[in-house]
Amino acid sequence: MVLFIFHWSTIVASYLNFKDLRQRLSFRDILTDYQIELTEKAGGQGMGYCPLPQHKGSEARRSPSFSAHLERGIFQCFSCGISGNLIEFAALMDGLDPADGADFRKTALKLAQRFGIQTSKPDKESAAKPAAPPPVTAKEPSPTGEEDEPGTDTKSALPVVVNAALEFELKDLDPEHPYLPSRGFTPETIAHFGLGACQRGLMKDRVAIPLLDASGILIGYAGRVVDDNTINAQNPRYKFPGMRETKGIRYEFHKSEFLYHGHAIAKPVSDLVVVEGFTALWWLWQHGYQDVVGLMGSACSDTQARLILERSKPKGRIWYFADGDPAGVKCAKDTLAMLATSRLVRLVIADGRQPTDFTEGELKKLMPF
Ligand SMILES: [Zn+2]
Repeated sequence: MVLFIFHWSTIVASYLNFKDLRQRLSFRDILTDYQIELTEKAGGQGMGYCPLPQHKGSEARRSPSFSAHLERGIFQCFSCGISGNLIEFAALMDGLDPADGADFRKTALKLAQRFGIQTSKPDKESAAKPAAPPPVTAKEPSPTGEEDEPGTDTKSALPVVVNAALEFELKDLDPEHPYLPSRGFTPETIAHFGLGACQRGLMKDRVAIPLLDASGILIGYAGRVVDDNTINAQNPRYKFPGMRETKGIRYEFHKSEFLYHGHAIAKPVSDLVVVEGFTALWWLWQHGYQDVVGLMGSACSDTQARLILERSKPKGRIWYFADGDPAGVKCAKDTLAMLATSRLVRLVIADGRQPTDFTEGELKKLMPF
């Protein structure tokens, strides 16, 4: 039995995830959908007649009082005074009240579905709505095609929410389990990453690895086997969060939408290190490379590339410390190819050696900063 502790961050996370949906929606596409044409000016500003059905006064419609910031996804009408974001805009266009949670949620789900951000319809149960609007984020097929990401082949009648906050925390994790010290990790590193061996439930005999989103909110756990001798097809080295259904909503975890340790990079840095896996990341962090992020898989998605760029100064450098095997080197090269048009990139490879094989002195020679 795993002890479940309900966590209030769920409520906060709901709004953070709506923010995420807002960022992924295109205001241009929404306007086109409502057959609204604006005159586009420099800086992504669109101007035109106010299209809102709530707009008061036919006189005012004769001047282009409506202004939309197409990149930032916000609008305002200087005549009727209504303003808001693109989801609120769509709600108003549909004659709904964006201040009403149910109306807002209905619009968000509709937009997500309309633009392929989530593909399925809300069912009756979810229409009965939970207290807080659910987080809705983009749903993209996994770049890796790995089975832990359900992808688009699953046909569920439920709305799909990706990488939402977890409603519980694992308790009684053992940070003193011998596995991590045996790999050379110090108590400080184990504490920084919140690691601990789990004795029960799905994560039994694994090191539970908290996965925190960009806001530092727990969205799930990965689990690393503590005894490599037990690894087989049924018991993979790593487990990732599975799918869960609650209150008519289906929650999925997509690695491709997530950057491990990304929350720790609060603002863009000059030298950002990218690695593939957890242990490489912990090792580099322990040896003085605090600005390090992990893909957690053998491919970098467009979203991950964006998340990496957001954490790197425009004139900064991005270092990829590759796993020593051929698959690791290929992942590194593919990832850097995606980033090289925007940043100075550096590939660090050492034949057949993993990042965890390097001493601090060797690391400092390879990545001197
Ligand atoms: Zn107006």
